[in-house]
Amino acid sequence: MLYESTRMESLPVASAQAILSGIAPDGGLFVPMNEVTINTKELEKLVDLSYQARAVFVLKQFLTDFNEEELRECVEDAYNSKNFDHASIAPLTLLNDNLAVLELWHGPTYAFKDMALQLLPRLLMKSAEKVGDESDYVILVATSGDTGKAALEGFKDVPKTKILVFYPVEGVSQVQKLQMITQEGHNVGVVAVEGNFDDTQNGVKKIFNDQEFKARLLEKGHKFSSANSINWGRLVPQIVYYFSAYLDLVKTKKISLGQEINFVVPTGNFGNILAGFYAKSMGLPIYKLICASNQNNVLTDFINTGVYDRNRTFHKTISPSMDILISSNLERLLFELSVEPGKVKGWMEDLKRAGRYEIDEDLKNKITCNFWAGFSSDLETKQRIRKIYENYQYVTDTHTAVAWDVYEKYRYETGDKHPTVIVSTASPFKFNTSVCEAIYGKNTIEGKSELEILKLLAAKTGLEIPKALNQLEQKAIIHNEVCQKEEMLMQVAEFLF
Ligand SMILES: *Cc1c(COP(=O)(O)O)cnc(C)c1O
Repeated sequence: MLYESTRMESLPVASAQAILSGIAPDGGLFVPMNEVTINTKELEKLVDLSYQARAVFVLKQFLTDFNEEELRECVEDAYNSKNFDHASIAPLTLLNDNLAVLELWHGPTYAFKDMALQLLPRLLMKSAEKVGDESDYVILVATSGDTGKAALEGFKDVPKTKILVFYPVEGVSQVQKLQMITQEGHNVGVVAVEGNFDDTQNGVKKIFNDQEFKARLLEKGHKFSSANSINWGRLVPQIVYYFSAYLDLVKTKKISLGQEINFVVPTGNFGNILAGFYAKSMGLPIYKLICASNQNNVLTDFINTGVYDRNRTFHKTISPSMDILISSNLERLLFELSVEPGKVKGWMEDLKRAGRYEIDEDLKNKITCNFWAGFSSDLETKQRIRKIYENYQYVTDTHTAVAWDVYEKYRYETGDKHPTVIVSTASPFKFNTSVCEAIYGKNTIEGKSELEILKLLAAKTGLEIPKALNQLEQKAIIHNEVCQKEEMLMQVAEFLF
């Protein structure tokens, strides 16, 4: 199977090359050129298999230039009991006959990005072997918190790779910072940048585009690659858990094989929910994909009106991993559903130039056939966390609560009664301050540090603090470099040479 660019100006490539390149040379995103389908019979065979075996099955449909043995090796390296604290990898918690939660946060950093970032480095290495590339790959990441740590954990000690993460001094929480500056591994670096997330991200982009520096790198046998969510190697691992959740519902006899269900997805960059769309396109019986946003509701407006408009106020919310105004992976959906895929390039140019584009009625209808969209405010999110705890004794993080609240709106507005899976993207302990405040009130957290609140939340709910978070205070601080935003290139050079 070959992959083509959504902008249609680059040559098609095999999946190994798509994974190595990350973004297509014409600035577009790689998408599979052939339709992949799985029939009910094949689905039935997966019911009794492990997460790992289901993963190999799904991956081999797309990564056809990898053989099954190679895929199995990558999958077993990524999804095992060393990296994940739950034997099912992505367990499904059943709340009642109609509702379940898919927990995607049992990996090393307790957020769903581990599902992809544990596998990507392994796929990247195999891809380099395949195309006969002997360079060392250098991963640069600008992070506002979650991605940096998940990428560090994914790439640490992976042969022939080095990873350097920049985070804004003013941008990350105490726990997120501690997670990164205590990172172990012989090939990792972490540097704080005096500035905000935009400064940090612009700095990294500049380095990526510095041709002179790239040439210097190449002389030393190094190449840049990217771990961000537009890489096909990050998207394809996410298709697996939609299948896995469905199969678990069949296995526990909550649904019968072939019955349609909904997924509700807390959405930022549109990567997670797009993987759900690919699963649906492959024939997984999904009725609706419900796209949940926080106050940064650019996607809600887009799905409901057909106008994408990023010219609006940016809100800092209590679900920070969804504070995004440009959802890059949406480009793939537009391409997949357009009758004239040539139009995507124009829309993306409009977005870059004017911050806005408008799709035609036909495409809009196709989107609303598959998706429903809504958003919730911080206040609604906190109220929902509390209600969920009261009704189900289930503790949920802020991102998952956005999804849950939007699901309640969906049910109220549509009356739809399909069995539904809420996709849960972070452990509640990762966003402990907001969760504690939502359930127990503001005065329980006042004057307390994040680490104190972590313990308080555990004591009050009776849940265990995830191991790596609990050990943070005892860990040695390894990375204490701080640089000016103008000094980022120098930091990269020092790290590599
Ligand atoms: C990244 C992230 C999201 C958003 O996922 P997208 O694939 O960007 O839509 C939601 N919740 C959490 C906790 C995340 O880290």
